[in-house]
Order: sequence, then structure tokens, then C-alpha cells
Amino acid sequence: MKEISIIGLGSMGETIARLYLRSGYRVTLWNRTASKAQPLVQEGAVLAPSAAAAARASAIVLMCVYDYKAADEILHAQDVGAALAGRLLIQLTTGSPQDARDSAAWARQQDAAYLDGAIQAAPSQMGQADTPILVSGDNAVFRRAEAALRILGGNIVYLGDKIGSASTMDLATLSYIYGAVLGFMHGARIAESEGIDVAAYGAVVADISPTFGAFLKHEGGVIQSGDFTISESPLRISVEATQRLLQTAREAGINSEFPAYASGLLKRAADAGYGGEELAALIKVLRQ
Ligand code: NAP
Repeated sequence: MKEISIIGLGSMGETIARLYLRSGYRVTLWNRTASKAQPLVQEGAVLAPSAAAAARASAIVLMCVYDYKAADEILHAQDVGAALAGRLLIQLTTGSPQDARDSAAWARQQDAAYLDGAIQAAPSQMGQADTPILVSGDNAVFRRAEAALRILGGNIVYLGDKIGSASTMDLATLSYIYGAVLGFMHGARIAESEGIDVAAYGAVVADISPTFGAFLKHEGGVIQSGDFTISESPLRISVEATQRLLQTAREAGINSEFPAYASGLLKRAADAGYGGEELAALIKVLRQ
């Protein structure tokens, strides 16, 4: 019978445990607050008396707790390291690339195989054909874990054997999301200041987002290739656009922090002579 141990029963860990139960796995659980396991025990899971017992119970141990501080408190407790020897630890707690490296080094000392992952979905979106989960670590270890990972989502993105890659990619996409959020919020103030329905503005943003995603994919390719010859959008157009945003914010008397930051960066790119290159040449300013 397929078996897995789950450590951590917050909203994500509980969802994960249920997905394995419904896929016919023998599921062993451990959580700091043991009472959270009760609904899952009623559905057929086994509650282990300690994290070490949970680690011993299955060949694959999946951890999903609040952060790496919590994960370390659990893993570094007595007997847990020894219990993990010969087992595979899949760490799905969100963390930094350095957290992943430290955790992998610790697992190696315990003689445990290790994969690091980042879940890019909410609990209600888990287990779908398109649920994205980033994973990094040794390729042979990934292949051992792949079938179990696919229970969690159909879009398992394996990023290679550099253990920090999953959290690096997670942070990079997080940066994109918050850049978009800040731009969206400033746009909402522009709409409000001119009496435009902000919900309608949100709908327009949603409509253009797939096309804009394709544009960003192209710009990523440009940066990776190092060839900044104009292929989609000259940088000078964005210099003008962000100056217009700044000027409009000043005229409307609304907050101008976002356009001041954006136009400042693009102006530096233009001053450095990149105006006649592809927009992606802005990366050269950020590299300085
Ligand atoms: P959560 O509901 O807040 O649950 C936190 C879990 O961590 C609980 O099991 C909690 O145990 C445990 N925990 C916290 N501090 C601890 C400590 N000092 N010692 C032992 N256990 C401790 O969090 P979650 O939403 O399940 O998130 C878990 C991970 O998934 C996080 O890294 C999060 O970034 C990631 N994630 C979550 C979502 C989401 O939408 N929820 C989406 C993507 C990724 P107790 O039950 O005893 O408090």
C-alpha cells in the first residue's frame, strides 16, 4: 500500500492529508496541536504520538508548517533526525533559498533524501490538474517522489538539482505579483480620481493579463539571451508612459510614489543610452 506521513495540519497540511487519504494512501499524521488531526483520523488517517514516530511510519515524509523556524523546531527535536534516516523528506513549507540549503544540509547529515518545494496555490485550489507546485532537488530523488507529488497537483514544475531553485522561483514570482499589485493600486487611484468605476478597471486588467503574461515571457527570454535589439517594445515608450503617469498623478493631486519610482528607473535607463533597446534592457539598470 502507498504510504505517506504528513507533519503539519494547518489549512494547507490538512488539505494535503485529505488528498492522500482520498487517493488510497495510508496516511500518518503529526501536528503540534494534536486535536486538529481528529477529522482526518475519522476519515482513516493514523495520528502518531510524536513527530519522530510519524517520520518512522512512512518512506516519504511531507512537511508543511508555518515557516522554517517552526519546521526546524520540529525536525531538530530529539529522535526526529534519527527517525528520518533512509527516508525521503519533502519540505513544502515556504522559505528562502538559504532555508532550503540549510535544510538540505541538515537532512544529508541525518542520511535522509530531501526535496524542497513551494506551493503556488491556495488550499481550495490543491489537487487540480493545473495546481502549480515548484520542486527542486536531486533528480533521482524527485523521480522517487513524483507519483506522490502528483496527488497534490497536475502542474509539478521540477526546477533541477539546485536545492534553492524552488524557493528562488517562488520569490521571483512573488516579486512580480507585488509589483503588479502596487501598479494596480495606483491605477485604482487614477480611476477613482476621475470618477471611473474601479470594478470595471479590474475587469479591464483581467482581460489584458493573459496577453501581458505572454509579453513578460518574451521579455524574460530577451534578458536570458542578452540580445536587447528591439523585438516587441522599445524602452523609450515606457519612459514616456511612466513620465505621463507621474505628471497625471501630480495634476490630479493623488499619491505619486509608484510612478515616481517607475519613471525614475526608466529615466536612468534612458540616460544610460538604452532608450533604443527592448524594454527588457531595464535589467541593466537593476544590475548596477
Ligand atoms: P497555517 O494554517 O497557519 O498552519 C500552520 C501550521 O504550522 C500548523 O500546523 C501549526 O501547528 C504549525 N506550526 C506553526 N508554528 C509551529 C511551531 N513553532 N512548532 C510546531 N508547529 C508549528 O498555515 P498553512 O496555511 O497551512 O501554511 C503552511 C505552509 O504552506 C506555509 O509555509 C505557507 O506559506 C504555505 N502555503 C500556504 C498557502 C495557503 O493559502 N494557506 C498557499 C501556499 C503556500 P498548530 O496547528 O499546532 O498551530
